[in-house]
Amino acid sequence: TEIMSRGLPKQKPIEGVKQVIVVASGKGGVGKSTTAVNLALALAANDSSKAIGLLDVDVYGPSIPKMMNLKGNPELSQSNLMRPLLNYGIACMSMGFLVEETAPVVWRGLMVMSAIEKLLRQVDWGQLDYLVVDMPPGTGDVQLSVSQNVPISGAVIVSTPQDIALMDAHKGAEMFRKVHVPVLGLVQNMSVFQCPKCKHRTHIFGADGARKLARVLDLDVLGDIPLHLNIREASDTGQPIVFSQPESDEAKAYLRVAAEV
Ligand code: ADP
Repeated sequence: TEIMSRGLPKQKPIEGVKQVIVVASGKGGVGKSTTAVNLALALAANDSSKAIGLLDVDVYGPSIPKMMNLKGNPELSQSNLMRPLLNYGIACMSMGFLVEETAPVVWRGLMVMSAIEKLLRQVDWGQLDYLVVDMPPGTGDVQLSVSQNVPISGAVIVSTPQDIALMDAHKGAEMFRKVHVPVLGLVQNMSVFQCPKCKHRTHIFGADGARKLARVLDLDVLGDIPLHLNIREASDTGQPIVFSQPESDEAKAYLRVAAEV
């Protein structure tokens, strides 16, 4: 803990960015990136006067290019900073724009820290009200390094209601607390599945595990996102649900989360 807090005075704001919100999860596959993307779109939809950016520091498995239907190499500005790529009104930057999709993970490993430095410091965001950061899953070097280098307004932790995911989410919340990043709350993802044919509702991963964890950690639950085919299809086709079906109940669930942030 002592080493961690000693790192804090080095924190330097990202130029032009008012607030940084990180989206984290204890483990992979729980819907962290889907939440980050839809949260960014929902922040923009809730207040069109706000400029929103999305930064993907999930260096081992960047999902933002696919989910936001973007690819290509960023152009450089006159001061040699990378210009974010733009879609659906959101300025995006991702490790996925910098390396080939098929680049071996081993090679990436060697570059991770210098890549993080680039993604944090060498992007010309212009003026942003919110920068939503899609963290890698877990509590490793990247999460620590981002938390120590940049002032973060708050962390949103995504978990399914399943015990194993919750245990890891618990660790994530503890990490942020240790480095003095305020945890805004938990997003419970995939809590309920409603059969599109018979409307029967099933709690595939349990009903309200995140709520129980939130009570233990004295945190808010920012929202419940249902397990829904439309969310998965929308993400996979690069047309996130908040953008493509803003009137759907699924999109509204994300809009409610954004209103809490
Ligand atoms: P993570 O970033 O935690 O690894 P992703 O956001 O990439 O997870 O989600 C993993 C998979 O689950 C993706 O295919 C995504 O489309 C899907 N998914 C995430 N949340 C939901 C949801 N609420 N309903 C249906 N599919 C979802």
